[in-house]
Amino acid sequence: MIETKTYLYNTLSKRVEEFIPNEERKVAMYTCGPTVYHFAHIGNLRSYIMEDVLEKHLRFVGYDVKRVMNITDVGHLSSDGDTGEDKMLAGAKREHKSVMDIARFYTDAFMQDCEKLRIKRPDVVEPATNCIPEFIHMIEVLLEKGYAYVAGENVYFDTSKLENYYVLSAQKEDELKVGVREDVEEDTNKRNKTDFVLWFTKSKFDNQELKWDSPWGVGYPGWHIECSCISMKHLGEYMDIHCGGVDNIFPHHTNEIAQSEAYVGHKWCNYWFHVNHLNTKSGKMSKSKGEFLTVSLMEEKGYDPMVYRYFCLLSHYRKPLEFSWEALDNVVAAYEKLKKRVVNLSREGDIDEAAVALYEKQFAEAMGNDINTSSAITVLYDALKADISDASKRKIVARLDEVLSLGLKEALEQEAESAPAADDELTAYVERMIEERKAAKKEKNFARADEIRDELAAKGITLKDTREGTLWSIQ
Ligand code: AMP
Ligand code: ZN
Repeated sequence: MIETKTYLYNTLSKRVEEFIPNEERKVAMYTCGPTVYHFAHIGNLRSYIMEDVLEKHLRFVGYDVKRVMNITDVGHLSSDGDTGEDKMLAGAKREHKSVMDIARFYTDAFMQDCEKLRIKRPDVVEPATNCIPEFIHMIEVLLEKGYAYVAGENVYFDTSKLENYYVLSAQKEDELKVGVREDVEEDTNKRNKTDFVLWFTKSKFDNQELKWDSPWGVGYPGWHIECSCISMKHLGEYMDIHCGGVDNIFPHHTNEIAQSEAYVGHKWCNYWFHVNHLNTKSGKMSKSKGEFLTVSLMEEKGYDPMVYRYFCLLSHYRKPLEFSWEALDNVVAAYEKLKKRVVNLSREGDIDEAAVALYEKQFAEAMGNDINTSSAITVLYDALKADISDASKRKIVARLDEVLSLGLKEALEQEAESAPAADDELTAYVERMIEERKAAKKEKNFARADEIRDELAAKGITLKDTREGTLWSIQ
């Protein structure tokens, strides 16, 4: 545990506040997961990277974090105003597959992208289609309490029943364009413009593939109810921190608060963490316009996904970030240089525990200052420049990389493989090479045998062939 405070910008209070969870040293954290109708673009992944460093920072300073994420595999329509087609169905049509096949394929693809970007898998990952009975139960309670109504065979949440529907988003009704899209007919079943669908039985399209029986007829859930139910299922009625991209503030998170608090009858979640968008020169990144920027595309172009993670960490999560290949190129050299410095750290010297603790604390303070990742990276550079032993630097790098996850811990191990330091490791390595050389000679592969001798010689190890076998020594 590191004695430090964490300050976060809270979208709910609209200011930076000290983060104090409900239970001491425990954090209940929820993240809106991907809609798995297509690959995630690197904009989506910016949000997940920044939420990942937030989670890892909380763990670093000693919190026991339980993080839950949903997978949206039903109910997310192409417009946030409950209009348009279910995105999953559009994906299935595009690829001539079933919705469940699409969901499975893109959930796996998302998890692989996360792995490549060293984004930790949340403790619980729950697809919406696993929780239909929970959604139905919550909707029943909302109806009983008078917060919901049935109209045109759909169930709607009545936003006029709340004292402050806009508690999160600070929008005024007359400023709102949601619920109505210029090009789409208004849903005349809604009593108020901001009301939203909890359960669809009759929608603007009738070819929905996934449907379930419910007290209101065969249908499917709305998108917002998923996150309220899935988070409560695993985290209970009180949540500490809820994350997502800024586009989720309205209407998604606003609606989550409305229905959750109507359901539990008290304040639900204390802190709201929102990551700003990754944009391209032409505006907000999207899956339908321009180049579809994915992790795979980056790899095809020869970029290590770690370079993208580094690119994201160099900017503050609350600022919009503009992506271009040139901007990424500028980061490649810096990342390679950093990695090289880490690989070149020797194991020499004693570990200065006081120095390790000092840099850990400075790092935690930078992160605790509203997740200031670029200052936190500066602390890492300061440690690398400091007048302390390489052994101490190695320990600091390994510790800070628990949060940054830039592959630096792995870089330290890489070095260990090519130049084993511990006596046992060295002996095992040389003996393995001697065996390989013996086998090469037996196969008359003298070129390989010489290569092994040279490789060892380059490390200062001399071989001497005797009648008793090959002996070795270090110069
Ligand atoms: P979706 O798969 O569309 O439900 O989005 C997954 C996550 O990515 C959500 O938290 C969104 O708020 C976030 N997101 C969407 N577009 C962007 C973007 N351009 N930059 C950063 N985050 C985004
Ligand atoms: Zn959500």
